[in-house]
Amino acid sequence: MNPKIWSDEELLHYITTEDRAEMEELFAAARKVRKEHYGLDVYFRGLIECTNYCKNDCYYCGIRRSNAGANRYRLGSEEILECCRTGDTLGFRTFVLQGGEDPWFTDDRLCEIIRTIRTEFPDHAITLSMGERSRKSYKALFYAGVNRYLLRHESGDDTHYSAIHPPEMKLSSRKKCLYTLKELGFQTGAGFMTGAPFQTAECLLADLRFLQEMEPHMAGIGPFVPAAHTPFADHPAGSTDLTLRMAALTRLILPRVLLPATTALGVLSRDGMEQALLAGANVVMPNLSPGYAKKRYSIYNNKPYTDDEAAEGLHSMILRVKAAGFVPNMGARGDAKPA
Ligand code: SAH
Repeated sequence: MNPKIWSDEELLHYITTEDRAEMEELFAAARKVRKEHYGLDVYFRGLIECTNYCKNDCYYCGIRRSNAGANRYRLGSEEILECCRTGDTLGFRTFVLQGGEDPWFTDDRLCEIIRTIRTEFPDHAITLSMGERSRKSYKALFYAGVNRYLLRHESGDDTHYSAIHPPEMKLSSRKKCLYTLKELGFQTGAGFMTGAPFQTAECLLADLRFLQEMEPHMAGIGPFVPAAHTPFADHPAGSTDLTLRMAALTRLILPRVLLPATTALGVLSRDGMEQALLAGANVVMPNLSPGYAKKRYSIYNNKPYTDDEAAEGLHSMILRVKAAGFVPNMGARGDAKPA
């Protein structure tokens, strides 16, 4: 199975197939390719949800600026550093700082935070996911010590992108940011939601073609889950099967991609993480945010949230990864391999 050379028709067939045997064939092929490049290792990233303030107004997102119901918070530098320390003690070698596009995080403030983390943890990978910024900003962050940047392209189809974002947001700007990040030397992550409102199979084909063209180091693929008090609050959630098919196709198109089993998948199925690992995923991102932040970073409904100490959450995830037949690899930074 080599979707890299498939025609649009062939790809569309596997994007939409409901045939169990065909799906299993796809997942098995993705598993095999993942094993060739990464063995059975699963890399762990410690997620820190830094802020739910956002100047954007994405129609699907629970922390969009128009959602007056969102209970806003922002972690201070010391709190972020504490999360990193907890993560380091637990064995994490990668921190992912994610948040809304919060203007408080100016280049000066963010670079200062990054430099502090970099000084205390010289060997760790630092990943940022804070949306669209200028080239100058990305460059400053890179030199402050950021190694990776996650910025989902959200939809590879212009019309669809415009149907789920306000007019001031453009797919072309998103793509430009991604190419800039890659050129500056970041390990760069793109990605999209499955089952988003108004999404067609052709939109998903455009997503795969964009990944094929851009060749990101990482790809975040998760189902749309409705978020209360948003324009899409009453739209149905995406499906597990569609998400798994898209993850598997992504693994086959980009054999060395770092592919997380996304948290949103866990909202749709209890064993969403395990299923994703069996369809080619090789990364998990346990949450290191303080309890109050986990609760308020509600980009969609029913986001799994426990008051558990980070240690407990991590312990149960390690057991689940092992039970699914994989090898938790906490000790490695788990960098992207050269293409
Ligand atoms: N502001 C950052 C991080 C956004 S949150 C950025 O722009 O990159 C991370 C991801 O959550 C988004 O890229 C989006 O794909 C996803 N997301 C947001 N709302 C969602 C929803 N309702 N259902 C599923 N995923 C959602």
